[in-house]
Amino acid sequence: MTEESNGVWVYLQHTKSGLTTDSLELIAAGRQVAAKLSQDVVGVMLGSGLDELANAAISHGADDVLVVDSPAFEPYFNLAYVDAIYALVKERKPYVFLFAANEVGKDIAARVAFKVPTGLATDNVQLAVEDYNNPALGQFKNLLIQVRPDFGTRLARIYTPKHRPQMATVRPGSFSPLQDDPKRKGRIEKVDFTLPKYPARVKEVVELPPPVPDLKGADVVISLGLGILKDGSGKPRDPREAFRYAQELKSVLEEHYHLKAEIGASRALIYAEVKPLEGLISKANQVGQTGTTVRPKIYIAVGISGALQHRVGMQFSSKIVAINSDPDAPIFKFAHYPIVGDLYEELPKLTRAIGGVGNAA
Ligand SMILES: Cc1cc2nc3c(=O)[nH]c(=O)nc-3n(C[C@H](O)[C@H](O)[C@H](O)COP(=O)(O)OP(=O)(O)OC[C@H]3O[C@@H](n4cnc5c(N)ncnc54)[C@H](O)[C@@H]3O)c2cc1C
Repeated sequence: MTEESNGVWVYLQHTKSGLTTDSLELIAAGRQVAAKLSQDVVGVMLGSGLDELANAAISHGADDVLVVDSPAFEPYFNLAYVDAIYALVKERKPYVFLFAANEVGKDIAARVAFKVPTGLATDNVQLAVEDYNNPALGQFKNLLIQVRPDFGTRLARIYTPKHRPQMATVRPGSFSPLQDDPKRKGRIEKVDFTLPKYPARVKEVVELPPPVPDLKGADVVISLGLGILKDGSGKPRDPREAFRYAQELKSVLEEHYHLKAEIGASRALIYAEVKPLEGLISKANQVGQTGTTVRPKIYIAVGISGALQHRVGMQFSSKIVAINSDPDAPIFKFAHYPIVGDLYEELPKLTRAIGGVGNAA
């Protein structure tokens, strides 16, 4: 199956308003892999009346789009989706197949991989293509290397040399969508698939309201870490004070600059279950590997060390500001604007500097 396999497939999700951002990011990830393999990026979509969306996939970087065209795919029903996608994989034999690491992507990818059967490396933040030599297994050319945080402090490189397609889920926020180029040309192919009868069906899918806080939709994320529990001299502080400073900065950004700002947090701060922060900061604020991946215009890390699991959730922010009292904190290795100092002084100073109301001495 390895030799005859060809094509970097990406599974494209869509809503009434178009292709999802996760899907556009996946096309960009696919392009990066396909360039190294000298293969095409093939978008896979399920549903009916998808011509416009298929064209959007091409203008965002896909070479081909396979559309399994049937109204039966509404509403989303995982068993039907898996059967249709599995049939395509069996027939066309892609080399690589990428899914977004979101609810739907994970739901389908794991089931398809099991049926093929092939491996599935989940939650990747980078992808590479390299040759792989292993004395026990042999030599493999042009392998997709799947890179994700491990359970400690490192990035793990996952090799799945023997089976095709090499399947992976890609963490949303890890790649940037490509510029829309309406002049790009590509092929759209409609594929028939007769759905079997299922003992159950989905009657309705209800969309959840946007999450609160909407970290993904924010222009600026101001994140608080364990550092807020003490000031620069090591004296315990009421963390509500730091929260209030963050809120003041948020208000200034929103009122003076018309930027949408949200407050994030490190997992360490959330898991510390600090009583005074109850009702102010919860798991919904968490940025990082096991929280939300964000890519705002500006990320402001306040009293956060910059551990790998936090970094993978914010490292692609356009500009990173870090306030930390330790000049050797890891976050300073990748922050664009390092501020070395006590957050209880520097955060209100920052708010004042940009024209706001910070009120600390
Ligand atoms: C499987 C797994 C998944 C994980 N997922 C996540 C995740 O999704 N998100 C996440 O954030 N973490 C995650 N972690 C935890 C991660 O490894 C770190 O422990 C965590 O990010 C550290 O949080 P922190 O930076 O707030 O705390 P610390 O590492 O304790 O850093 C606090 C920082 O504050 C600074 N500081 C202290 N006082 C002040 C002051 N007054 N002024 C300025 N600076 C000050 C210190 O110098 C220090 O750098 C995960 C860990 C594992 C094992």
